[in-house]
Amino acid sequence: MFDILIIGSGPSGMTSAIYGARSGLTVGIIERGAPGGAMVTTASIENYPGFSKIDGATLSMNMFEQMTNLGVTFIGEEVLSIKKDNDIFTVETNYAKYDSKTVIIATGTMQKKLSVSGEDKFTGRGISWCAICDGSFYKGKDVIVVGGGNSALEEAMYLASICKTVYIIHRRDEFRADSMLVNKAKEFDNIKYILSSTIKEFLGDKKLEKVLITNLKTNEDYLMDIDGVFEFIGQTPNTNWLSELGIVGENGFIKVNSEFETTVKGLFACGDVIDKGVRQIATAVSDGAISALSASHYIK
Ligand code: NAP
Repeated sequence: MFDILIIGSGPSGMTSAIYGARSGLTVGIIERGAPGGAMVTTASIENYPGFSKIDGATLSMNMFEQMTNLGVTFIGEEVLSIKKDNDIFTVETNYAKYDSKTVIIATGTMQKKLSVSGEDKFTGRGISWCAICDGSFYKGKDVIVVGGGNSALEEAMYLASICKTVYIIHRRDEFRADSMLVNKAKEFDNIKYILSSTIKEFLGDKKLEKVLITNLKTNEDYLMDIDGVFEFIGQTPNTNWLSELGIVGENGFIKVNSEFETTVKGLFACGDVIDKGVRQIATAVSDGAISALSASHYIK
């Protein structure tokens, strides 16, 4: 029996685990992928206090080591359901069942897809959602980054250091990304912009060869030869599996109170998966700390 069982090991989940363990509680953390969540595939992080510049994999491993050194049990499985009976939660995974006095959901988000023709066919054959994983396949080649947020601008700069040319295709002519990132990207000679435009179709034979682009101002369509496309058009919460608990809002994010508790007593949530305005590593670790302290208070 755990005191706190955390689902998801991104920065919020790992911070919950660190705070829970330091409160003298028995803590487990379940993760289906690599520790770090979205952070682990981020090439360069430059706005997390204490590190002027650090890569996501190193920051993830630093948090992971700090957490496991405190005695947190890491469970590499996928959670299928959470049930509560007589004040005890049972979390079922693809391998086992675990009991806990409290549960903290920190499952984060996953990348949205453009959902246009040809996307499924060329996934992994020219279309990617991870620059750090797949960027090296496009060394010296031309790629497109779709999106105008912080992820698109950051990943475009990472790809610009590998690829010949990076074309940022954004549906508006103003960026959602922080102005500092927008200005920094402008310093790269090999980043070009295709604004007020979107991809309508992916085309090719065995691998991606062309995209059909629409100019949203003129409604003109044209074909462009391209080696790869990286989509960074926002995030969707990992909450499909939680619908039975009634804790998910209409937008798919989990609703919590100021203690990061859901409407189910003893069930907390934190990080990108909750309904909130700002999604940063700094805010994720803050959520994680508060949710673990709230869980600790609930147990005591
Ligand atoms: P985001 O901020 O939601 O930006 C998504 C971008 O994709 C927007 O520019 C949006 O256009 C565009 N878009 C959305 N749907 C589209 C569609 N169907 N077709 C074409 N374009 C589409 O997502 P994100 O960049 O992944 O960031 C997610 C969160 O993480 C944000 O809160 C962000 O601040 C945070 N984050 C922070 C950092 C950092 O601080 N260094 C790094 C990465 C992520 P519109 O602008 O027109 O809506």
